[in-house]
Amino acid sequence: MTVHDKRHAELSTLLQKHNYEYYVLDSPSVTDGEYDTLMNELKALEKAHPQLVTASSPTQRIGAPPKDGFKRVTRAVKMYSLDNAYTDDEVRAFAQRIVDAVGNDFSFVAEPKIDGASIEVTYENGQMVLATTRGNGTVGENVTLNVRTIRAMPLSIPEKRTLTVRGEIFIYGADLDAVNELRASRSEPTFANPRNAASGSLRLIDPRLTAERPLRVFFYDLVEPYFESHSEMLSHLDGIGLPTHRAEKRCDDVESLLTYIKEFGESRQKLPYETDGIVIKVDEIPLRDELGFTARFPRWATAFKYPAERRTTKILSITADVGRTGALTPAANLEPVPLSGTIVSRVTLHNLDLIKEKDVRVGDTVWMQKAGEIIPQLLSVVLEERPKETKPWKPPTHCPACEEKVVKADGEAVLRCVNKECVGRLKAGLRYFTHRNNMDIENMGDALIAQVVDAGLVKDMADVFALPEKRKALLVLERMGKKSVDKLLAAIEAARVGRSFSRLLSGLGIPLVGTVGAGTIAEKYRALPALLAAKPEDVEKDLAALDGIGPKMAKSVADYLADDFYRATLEKFLSLSVIAKEPEKVVVAGGKLDGMSFCVTGTLSRKRGAIHTEIEANGGEVHKSVKKGTTYLLAGDKVGKTKTDAAAKKGAKVIDEDTYLAMLE
Ligand code: AMP
Ligand code: ZN
Repeated sequence: MTVHDKRHAELSTLLQKHNYEYYVLDSPSVTDGEYDTLMNELKALEKAHPQLVTASSPTQRIGAPPKDGFKRVTRAVKMYSLDNAYTDDEVRAFAQRIVDAVGNDFSFVAEPKIDGASIEVTYENGQMVLATTRGNGTVGENVTLNVRTIRAMPLSIPEKRTLTVRGEIFIYGADLDAVNELRASRSEPTFANPRNAASGSLRLIDPRLTAERPLRVFFYDLVEPYFESHSEMLSHLDGIGLPTHRAEKRCDDVESLLTYIKEFGESRQKLPYETDGIVIKVDEIPLRDELGFTARFPRWATAFKYPAERRTTKILSITADVGRTGALTPAANLEPVPLSGTIVSRVTLHNLDLIKEKDVRVGDTVWMQKAGEIIPQLLSVVLEERPKETKPWKPPTHCPACEEKVVKADGEAVLRCVNKECVGRLKAGLRYFTHRNNMDIENMGDALIAQVVDAGLVKDMADVFALPEKRKALLVLERMGKKSVDKLLAAIEAARVGRSFSRLLSGLGIPLVGTVGAGTIAEKYRALPALLAAKPEDVEKDLAALDGIGPKMAKSVADYLADDFYRATLEKFLSLSVIAKEPEKVVVAGGKLDGMSFCVTGTLSRKRGAIHTEIEANGGEVHKSVKKGTTYLLAGDKVGKTKTDAAAKKGAKVIDEDTYLAMLE
């Protein structure tokens, strides 16, 4: 094992450990910055030594989309669904059937029924090789590429084991809120519940999009019957790094099981993830064979489902808000109603078709439900209680924010405002731009954004950085005392100098460019001046040639750059000294050019910047000029005499490009 192999293994293990702490234990031991530093070191190491790259390297989570969609996979052992029980008596009846079949000598194990999408994952020789959805139980879809992007999912397990595990892919409630908030600001339809978010994300054709969804995984089953009990099996999975819920409870009889179901029903709201019940299983695995299966369910397990909370309330009004891309999203304002612990006064109606389908009208009484504990849902209209004079809701003909005529694309259930300068779109765009995932301007909340736009202080995204010049105008805004203005301006200054180019790019909300795409573009151009200097058609060509950027995204960026309004905004960022530089790569220890320093000069076969990056990626140092301690002057054609004189004086050896390249062999 060379030093590089060793460091590579160390970094891989460390990154996996940090992922586990962050995404499974919820207690990270390093900051995001420290994590990124390790990841950058690993990337630089692999760049300098491509032979180190393996399929299970943490750098290899995100791949290119599969060419022709998801392949169907027939599995060896069928994945069953679960029977349901809704009452104590149904649980007692389930228990009695088991006692009748195998006697009294067994225990139950109860565990949370995680509300997500089921998954089967196969490891071969310690490497994760396949992940499939449940599908119809026997035939599932190969979603390996998407599942690989989930950071809690180990790409390898110890001891080169071969095994198949089953579990649930899910999303935290808070993460779903953030995803939905972002989607709403991008005028994309929001997810009605965590289950939809999980299964929708798994079935995206492009793994780069899945990678942007903060999915997690828990395993609750090992297909190979190596263990005597379910509890032992779970702790074994946990022991080899496969995340489990760690919330199982063994109950010796049905009455203690029922007590636990009640307790869990009261405490489950506190879990960060959604549960819709409890799965009850016979703990002894050998007994499961004796009990067997019906056509659809195991006889040794059932799911107790907690009742969803439903109430009726009245619709006060229906409004449509304009999002960042101009799409209008209708929502109903309700007479406030308590549901699962919060007061609900507004519900999204998602799109026009849905309103038509449910025929929701102002004045109607409707059934509301909180599916799970997170997002309120409108179930149906109580027609018997409809007042006499109601009319079907009429979609707006003009944008509620800027009053321009709205348009409806053929076949789409969405109305759009196509006015680029629409204040409504600008407000939504600014929420996205300043969001902590993007430019991260902490003190710029929704209310403030609305005020600065309405007051005409901000007319495009770049104007945010002109706010410090408008201190007086800020001070007269509502709820903006001296202190809050100072805080806001400090947050703006921090963003002006402290955000990477990729954050600026993703914050702009260029259609189709998400955080991953923005990262790739930023790596290529490093900062705004280079991107603006390039011709849009060249940018399109250059971007389309990059790994991870498709022709559509490349075109969208080019269109954006060619647009007068957007280009003016970008130029304004520069005139307002927004730095937004992409940080340089980390230097690797143990590289080919370790301990050497280079000053690069003259005309070379490649861009100087590319050679600088290469030197650093191989552990060398770059000196802007020859100074004491510079090892080499890498001289191309047409080298100035001052440089060679300096080299002679400072003791740097002059080498040509071929000699330099030979050092890298
Ligand atoms: P259902 O989809 O209602 O038929 O319920 C069966 C599904 O519950 C399984 O396919 C799993 O995806 C899911 N599930 C969630 N948590 C568990 C668990 N702890 N044990 C077994 N299945 C679970
Ligand atoms: Zn508008």
